[in-house]
Amino acid sequence: MNIQTDITIIGAGLTGLTLAFYLQKAGKKVAVIEKEDRVGGVIRSWKEGEFLFESGPNTGVLSSPEIMELFEDLREKCTVDTATPESKRRWILKNGRWHPLPSGLISALSTPLFTWKDKFNILGEPFRPAGENPVESVADMVVRRLGKSYLDYAVDPFISGIYAGDPHTLVTRFALPKLYRLEHHYGSFIRGTIKKQSEPKNAREQKVTKEIFSAKCGLEQLILALGEAVGKEQFYTGSRKVKVMPSGKGYITSFENSAGVSSSVVSEQVISTVGAYALADLFPFISSDRLDPVTSLRYARIVQAAVGYRNWNGPDLKAFGGLIPSLEKKNILGILFPSSIFTGRAPEKGALLSVFCGGSRHPEFYEKSDEEIKGMVLGEISATMKVSDTPDLFKLFKYSHAIAQYEASSEGRLDSIAEIQRQYPGLWLAGSIRDGIGMADRVTQARKLADELSC
Ligand SMILES: Cc1cc2nc3c(=O)[nH]c(=O)nc-3n(C[C@H](O)[C@H](O)[C@H](O)COP(=O)(O)OP(=O)(O)OC[C@H]3O[C@@H](n4cnc5c(N)ncnc54)[C@H](O)[C@@H]3O)c2cc1C
Repeated sequence: MNIQTDITIIGAGLTGLTLAFYLQKAGKKVAVIEKEDRVGGVIRSWKEGEFLFESGPNTGVLSSPEIMELFEDLREKCTVDTATPESKRRWILKNGRWHPLPSGLISALSTPLFTWKDKFNILGEPFRPAGENPVESVADMVVRRLGKSYLDYAVDPFISGIYAGDPHTLVTRFALPKLYRLEHHYGSFIRGTIKKQSEPKNAREQKVTKEIFSAKCGLEQLILALGEAVGKEQFYTGSRKVKVMPSGKGYITSFENSAGVSSSVVSEQVISTVGAYALADLFPFISSDRLDPVTSLRYARIVQAAVGYRNWNGPDLKAFGGLIPSLEKKNILGILFPSSIFTGRAPEKGALLSVFCGGSRHPEFYEKSDEEIKGMVLGEISATMKVSDTPDLFKLFKYSHAIAQYEASSEGRLDSIAEIQRQYPGLWLAGSIRDGIGMADRVTQARKLADELSC
């Protein structure tokens, strides 16, 4: 089969689907080549009895106009679900006990999570000079501006929750660009946060609610809505041996279907949304000198467990979840409480937990047998939640390349991506190799790129 199109998109995860949706809306013809037999990438929802659970992401943040507009544009096919008010609380484990992360002045003073010295020192944060190291780690920046106990009992578990990563190797400028900007644009985290609140917002920015989101009946509804809107004729799922080569004024993308039948797509533009580890096979014509700084991007491995109880005999789970600082030396990174965040995730008297293990802290976890992991997960639920009941649902999901780690090498990676795109007009390297690892980041990147290519 020989297909002629305007734009070829490689990968049908959230980035590829959003790109296809907005490019097509702007009148472009697209072909989406996906190696798996389904679209959606790491986003997937599952239903078992009264449990509705996710593999991959459980929640995102409505943090950009683009993600708000995506839900608006798909409103006839998919309904956004936002978190319950009670799930605003976050728990942090210290000395084996859960403590709420402070949310106001009084709780910030009374919390046992931070030392009195650091609580007092934080008053000086607005007057501390900005750092000068452009590749300063998150850990160094936080200790310099706030104090070590804030690193240990707020930022370290927060980084585990987002990146499954290590704050000592992640670089603030790339991994937490909004935090970096607070220091480098406004001079301080505290002053910057206050000033930003009083800055005027344009109509698009005013839409942003910063709420936690999923979709009614699970995140897969967002994927199904995008897939339906784009139309199944544009997707080439189950594609093997995908390769792109320059050809004439554009590119030719060749692949085989599961029966071994070869096809090719000719287009002026090709957008890759795949992980860094897949790029060398996809683009054999790009020299390794150019591509190595991109393909060397490190990923955290994650093992995720969905654990459900029809009758929950543990503590009242009125919170988003509990995060575990590395100092606590546990086998898990944290536990989300999806049945508290959204309705309809577990039986009425039951609970659904989503437990995360591995990450940069424990890469070896990924190699363990399912039985061993199950034993460890249930052991930690028993230790931290005091619940030893046998769960009614236990499902494991493993990701060898779960979350890209934006470390000091990011500068070289971004330079190489820019250079490749300059050298090969019409070729775009997108996805989480740049511009953020969360779902809202993926949608924002895709929408911006689609707008740029639709001009
Ligand atoms: C365990 C886990 C938990 C997460 N938790 C959260 C969270 O709580 N909140 C949040 O906002 N984000 C979270 N994320 C991140 C979020 O899921 C991702 O940012 C987003 O879904 C990535 O979408 P994507 O399209 O960029 O990549 P992917 O979903 O990885 O899609 C890439 C697609 O490309 C395909 N592909 C790969 N190689 C090829 C090839 N050679 N040819 C053709 N196709 C190919 C893949 O099969 C895949 O379908 C989590 C991710 C994981 C793994």
